[in-house]
Amino acid sequence: MNIHEYQAKQLFTDFSIPVPRGAVAANAAEAQDAARQLAGSTCVVKAQIHAGARGKAGGVKLARSPEQAGQFAADMLGTRLVTHQTDAAGLPVNSVWIEEASAIKSEFYLSLLLDRESERLIFVASAAGGMDIEAVAAQTPEKIVKVPVHPAAGLQPYHGRQIGAAFGLGKEQQGQLQTILEGIYRLFLAKDCSQIEINPLIETADGRLVALDAKINFDDNALALHPDIAAMRDASQEDAKEAEAKQFDLNYVTLGGNIGCMVNGAGLAMATMDMVKLKGGAPANFLDVGGGTNKDKVKEAFKLILSDGTVKAVLVNIFGGIVKCDVIAAGILAAVEEMHLTIPVVVRLEGTNVEQGKTMLSQSGLGLATADDLNQAAELAVKLAEGVA
Ligand code: ADP
Ligand code: MG
Repeated sequence: MNIHEYQAKQLFTDFSIPVPRGAVAANAAEAQDAARQLAGSTCVVKAQIHAGARGKAGGVKLARSPEQAGQFAADMLGTRLVTHQTDAAGLPVNSVWIEEASAIKSEFYLSLLLDRESERLIFVASAAGGMDIEAVAAQTPEKIVKVPVHPAAGLQPYHGRQIGAAFGLGKEQQGQLQTILEGIYRLFLAKDCSQIEINPLIETADGRLVALDAKINFDDNALALHPDIAAMRDASQEDAKEAEAKQFDLNYVTLGGNIGCMVNGAGLAMATMDMVKLKGGAPANFLDVGGGTNKDKVKEAFKLILSDGTVKAVLVNIFGGIVKCDVIAAGILAAVEEMHLTIPVVVRLEGTNVEQGKTMLSQSGLGLATADDLNQAAELAVKLAEGVA
């Protein structure tokens, strides 16, 4: 789960990571008020969406007066902001964060995330901050340092010295950095984060290190342990279909292609998408209906897949291990019938009661195509989606 910058900055404050003073606003009057409270003459108005790269997209604006802050807020609120991290539809701006403008001397990149390869938390740091870190990694990888933290030993002063050296910090700032690293590390563990990113972390003209941006992702599987974090969810920022899928315990991810895939098991779903690609097609989604699926779940899964207008064919690939193939077949038939499906459906079933399931499908008179193996099923789905078969 993601949260907004203003929520992340509140958590930063709780963990002794310095952030600019600021307030969140839901309308222009509140924004103007917030700007006035900050007393200084300039402030920054920042659109709150679950995506970065807002600066380049007009979602971060420097206001010279409280009136101007109100105006910028009015311009942003109620619109959808498109950045190069969102899709073409962008994300709705329902609130803005008003914060004091900082005099920036340097911008750094700092994040903490789980590195699955080394099975450790690693800090990723770069003196090339404020920029797209993926671009830095691609063009000038030598400007990025990775500092792994041993889980038993925890964060040590030498980690801070490595990162401080990469930033080229002075002695005074080195101490501040250590406090920030400790805050990030504690926050990460305390709230079961999956990533904390500060881009940019800045050194101000008067020598203070401040987190100017704040991004935190949380491990969904641990959210039940953190009701305070779960309460920060903003469904308006999430893919509507993915949110609906969550309600039915389906793992659904929207992708760009035109073949809707319904599969049980994440591994089989990955293999199915690979096979679709191999046959020259493009999956419209990743959908894992789970091991112990039932008729209702199959129906909901179909609804989700079809609510995407771009789907030209559906590929069902189910292994009947825990759930029997005849139960799946009944679910497919009920869904197809109820939804008056007009696009082609290719079904590949394997496992317990497979013959029974296949017979039900072929005798249904609903024109479902069945396949004996995944190779054949993927090939057929790709052809049908292209209108070839
Ligand atoms: P995003 O990453 O979504 O573009 P940021 O919060 O990183 O948004 O802001 C983009 C840029 O705007 C920063 O790199 C910084 O240069 C500038 N900026 C952001 N907040 C402030 C602030 N409070 N004072 C001065 N400049 C800021
Ligand atoms: Mg940023």
